[in-house]
Amino acid sequence: MERTLSIIKPDGVAKNVIGEVIKRFETDGIKIAAMKMIQLTEAGAKGFYAVHKDRPFFNSLTDFMTSGPIVVMVLEGENVIARNRKLMGATNFEEAEVGTIRKDYATNIEKNVVHGSDAPETAAFEIGYFFNAFEIQER
Ligand code: GDP
Repeated sequence: MERTLSIIKPDGVAKNVIGEVIKRFETDGIKIAAMKMIQLTEAGAKGFYAVHKDRPFFNSLTDFMTSGPIVVMVLEGENVIARNRKLMGATNFEEAEVGTIRKDYATNIEKNVVHGSDAPETAAFEIGYFFNAFEIQER
């Protein structure tokens, strides 16, 4: 059993594909252990993406991530970090496999619909960034 953080980014919420994204998780057998809709502040977005603070796209990315509501979820399942990344597809949607969320719904390399933790350590940090223990259910 493993947990990961998933975010439906502002573009995904605006495109009305919250249900479509969740359907893909559930169809794959992934369980949602926590979920809420929020809007990030600038400080919140910069803290979440601190690992990217020296990248040229950092300010653009944090502006985008604060531009509208997002849906944050804790996903639970065996090997769920890798399974979620496979369902998401490559960061650049043009390189993403056919049938992935990003291939189907991304606008560009930045507005790519979903976020997913990439390793157990980042998952632990990212889940704790948005949820306390009482907000996460055992599935
Ligand atoms: P991820 O783990 O697949 O989300 O990719 P990264 O951790 O490398 O990047 C984090 C997020 O930054 C991506 O999901 C994109 O939204 C954005 N991003 C990544 N690369 C670029 C880029 O070259 N340009 C811009 N504008 N945004 C990018």
